[in-house]
Amino acid sequence: MTPMFDPTSSLPTYEDIADAGRRLAGIAHRTPVMTSRTFDALVGARVFFKCENLQRIGAFKFRGAYNALSRLPASAGVITYSSGNHGQAIALAANLLGMRAVVVMPSSAPTVKRAAVEGYGAHVVHYDSAREQREEVAQAWVEREGLTLIPPFNHADVIAGQGTAAKELIEDAGALDYMLVPVGGGGLISGCALAAKALAPSCKVVGVEPAAGDDATRSFYSKQLQVLASVPDTIADGARTTSLGSLTFPLVLSHVDRMLTTPDAALMRAMRFFAERMKLIVEPTGALAASALLEGSVDVRAARVGVIVSGGNVDLRDLAGYFAA
Ligand SMILES: *Cc1c(COP(=O)(O)O)cnc(C)c1O
Repeated sequence: MTPMFDPTSSLPTYEDIADAGRRLAGIAHRTPVMTSRTFDALVGARVFFKCENLQRIGAFKFRGAYNALSRLPASAGVITYSSGNHGQAIALAANLLGMRAVVVMPSSAPTVKRAAVEGYGAHVVHYDSAREQREEVAQAWVEREGLTLIPPFNHADVIAGQGTAAKELIEDAGALDYMLVPVGGGGLISGCALAAKALAPSCKVVGVEPAAGDDATRSFYSKQLQVLASVPDTIADGARTTSLGSLTFPLVLSHVDRMLTTPDAALMRAMRFFAERMKLIVEPTGALAASALLEGSVDVRAARVGVIVSGGNVDLRDLAGYFAA
């Protein structure tokens, strides 16, 4: 499906992020901002890591999901399609708010992912990814059961919720010269860029995506939405998206300063640094922003740099393989 521009849907603003912050207070973790002298010495900067790998469900996606669901009546039922962090985030948020949740995932999804979603009390619907489109499966449930679809990134309340991660980072670390943010469909960076431009206007926001799926980088520099023909082959499973969305593309164009890509090998090196030096388990997508710094892709010498460490959900058997690589 090619995302279409919908001029009637309005873009979120910083006010929406401030509101989201009030809704999330006491419910989402205010995750720690960590530093490492070794990392600082390697890149020649003062780096502040916002540890969303320590967020509820192990990723920032809880912020957007809870913010979106808390704006619906408790009697509403919600549905989403995601075998990853967004599915778990919707399941937990719905559980906390006493709402019914349905998560559509491929029958090939790992049992642990299904178990995590079901553990929060959500109903899992399987589809055959070879024969069916997940959007169509979800749409059929929307029509039959009157559920509200909450997509993983192209939704104003989801974007506003994700932006609270950057708001907290700037509140806790102080003014920043740069903020580096992982990019999949662009919900996280859209919210973070809105927050950064409101709270630290001179902060340059840099998006980092996997080299195997460089659509957002090409979209940013060509100012035309680029859509990949197939799902990118990368270990960064949280960024296996084929394009930005109708809301996230304009927000990225107007608030992000730079986009760049990083190869999977660099993600593994960054994950290893996090584990060895900072005792943090970070998933491949969560290591995107830090890996760009370790690769020297941005000249941040003597700057104050914020890095969003977006998630920590990784199968431990895979993790051992990444460390050995
Ligand atoms: C979803 C996700 C991303 C990408 O977020 P978008 O809003 O799709 O750009 C990055 N890191 C992790 C851990 C994720 O789960």
